[in-house]
Amino acid sequence: MFELAHYVTCAICKEKFDRDKYPAVLVSSRRYAHASCAGTLSPEDAQKEKDRKALEEYIMKLFNLEHMDGRITLQIQKYLQDHPEYTYSGIRRTLEYFYGVKHNSIEKANGGIGIVPWVYEEAKRYYYNQWLLSQKNAEKDVQAYVPKVREITI
Ligand SMILES: [Zn+2]
Repeated sequence: MFELAHYVTCAICKEKFDRDKYPAVLVSSRRYAHASCAGTLSPEDAQKEKDRKALEEYIMKLFNLEHMDGRITLQIQKYLQDHPEYTYSGIRRTLEYFYGVKHNSIEKANGGIGIVPWVYEEAKRYYYNQWLLSQKNAEKDVQAYVPKVREITI
């Protein structure tokens, strides 16, 4: 399968990107920039772009890549299409959970992120429980603080 791509270099961050796939704006007669770099995105889309970059940076570090791998980019797009509830940050946290928390070996990954749909829900539950724990601890801190406040109240 041959895919036509329109690669341009962002005039602001100098990253090469496909202007058919990522929001782009024309900053001069021939130069493009990421819409996120040019500051013309809605706050919601700007956050999405930030999350996409954070995911790509994590993947490049994980696989020791200099540039984002085309096959992984397609995997991400497919997962987002197939699972409307998935997000860039959710995929990043899933990978962080699988490789960072669970210490699974990257060697079995075959240079891809095919593991994501298999552990996405498990990772979500893990982070939700972590959040619940932190809420409980915050509550404990408040309770521990209350008597002290009473002591000094006249
Ligand atoms: Zn840019």
